[in-house]
Amino acid sequence: ANTVRLILGDQLNASHSWFKQVDDEVLYVIAELRQETDYCLHHVQKICAFFASMAAFAEALQSAGHRVHYLTLDDSAAYRDLPALIESTLQDCKAKVFQYQRADEYRLLMQLQALAPKNVTVEEWDSEHFLLAFDEIPRQFTAGKHRRLENFYRLMRQRHHILMDGDEPCGGRWNFDSENRKRLTPSDIAELPEPLVFANDVTEILQRLDRHGVRYIGRADAQLLWPVSRRQALQMLDYFCGYLLPRFGRFQDAMTAEGSQRWSLYHSRLSFAINAKILHPRQVIDAALQAFEASEGAIDLAQIEGFIRQILGWREFVRGVYWANMPSYAELNSLGAERPLPDYFWTGETKMRCLSQAISQSLDYAYAHHIQRLMVTGNFCLLTGIDPKEVDGWYLGIYVDALEWVEMPNTRGMSQYADGGLVGTKAYAAGGNYIRKMSDYCGDCHYRVQDKIGDTACPLNSLYWHFMLAHRQSFSKNPRQSMIYKTWDKMPEETRQATLERAQWCLDNIEEL
Ligand code: FAD
Repeated sequence: ANTVRLILGDQLNASHSWFKQVDDEVLYVIAELRQETDYCLHHVQKICAFFASMAAFAEALQSAGHRVHYLTLDDSAAYRDLPALIESTLQDCKAKVFQYQRADEYRLLMQLQALAPKNVTVEEWDSEHFLLAFDEIPRQFTAGKHRRLENFYRLMRQRHHILMDGDEPCGGRWNFDSENRKRLTPSDIAELPEPLVFANDVTEILQRLDRHGVRYIGRADAQLLWPVSRRQALQMLDYFCGYLLPRFGRFQDAMTAEGSQRWSLYHSRLSFAINAKILHPRQVIDAALQAFEASEGAIDLAQIEGFIRQILGWREFVRGVYWANMPSYAELNSLGAERPLPDYFWTGETKMRCLSQAISQSLDYAYAHHIQRLMVTGNFCLLTGIDPKEVDGWYLGIYVDALEWVEMPNTRGMSQYADGGLVGTKAYAAGGNYIRKMSDYCGDCHYRVQDKIGDTACPLNSLYWHFMLAHRQSFSKNPRQSMIYKTWDKMPEETRQATLERAQWCLDNIEEL
């Protein structure tokens, strides 16, 4: 072949301009790699979802007439890493040109940009996936500076003419968040739809992982429930538009321990397919808009706006923050958090029911929805001062949709405030009351959510105050947070002291909680 083109595991975009023409002089390389299974400790379903999708993509390319070289772990074991594999493939084919699509993760992009094979021209292509061009990131985001999501989101709505009425937002408002914070009642829970799952046979992938001694976490199932092909991803998108979108916004923040078969509530679970580029974000947005319009009012604006905000707003926004601030972003630790992650993050074995639910579900399905990630596991790590490196590692490993460009600004930024406010405007810290309001977790918990003090008091309550006080000097400068200190100052001295003692006990005995 004259040209070798590399396709990474998260570049399964069948609509890319590369594939418009079949050319026998072009060889596509897709490879399962140890460097990708091993850069952190992964959930087994995440590895299986990527490998199975890569294989399905290779097959689809081949049946469309393209030449594909697919390497399993058995084949790629001969190479130290990705650059070694590329160099050797280029030599074997006597290729003159090597092309790759710009990687979305910093570590991979650095690896690719450092390649300098002899007598081969190297060309970088756009991945043709995002709604904000890569070259525009520096104009929209400045390193070390906060950019408001809301402003960015409005610009994207205008630019792409999504939910716009001329120059005005449809319905006269940009934001329906205030209507989207409903808790699930028992009758709502009874009506929750079941998640659409698949049964993709991954027996051989599991055998390969074991044969090569790849370490992993989570429930290993020979039948993978995640979508691995464009057909399956489109089925999920259809299912979302038909059954989930009508209530997406309303219950976006809700959590429940009931109906464990309905673990994803009204969430789309499309993040894996979108992040692997099996689906294009514009395609997802268009399908949702079409369902909204066809419903003639049965789906209200708050539902569709809530959904579009996530994809057109948040998803593009965190990518901008990531690229504007890497590589130093990965080192930020503005709150000086240093504690190791407790062991129950790997087992779910804690008496705190909210944590145990969110962690166990993550280990079972490689999935938790946004509020479980932000306000349950994330909030706990924030309050207890867990080292952001450990927190990042956990999120990057456990979720099927986790790729560093999207995981890190969400974790280190939005959830841990380790970036000092580049993503969010304040630390998302909460006591047990938030969990009580948004879920039914607290009912059967070992701890009492209404208590701050005493052996059975919900640890989150005292930890919340401990955290807020530890950072009083900097947080009280933020008008959104300064009020809270007035509440603290009004508490009786005795209560304050006992609260801080309870928090200290919880921190000293964190593994026992
Ligand atoms: P839905 O609730 O159905 O939302 C629809 C889509 O919007 C998602 O598929 C996703 O593409 C997009 N989206 C929603 N929220 C965000 C967000 N905050 N940032 C970027 N895109 C968003 N998302 C990832 O894709 N990968 C990650 O590694 C990841 N790590 C996270 C870590 C933490 C600590 C937090 C708080 C959030 C993280 N998120 C991550 C964002 C969000 O939680 C997931 O995108 C979402 O839960 C995926 O499930 P879903 O497809 O059912 O989403």
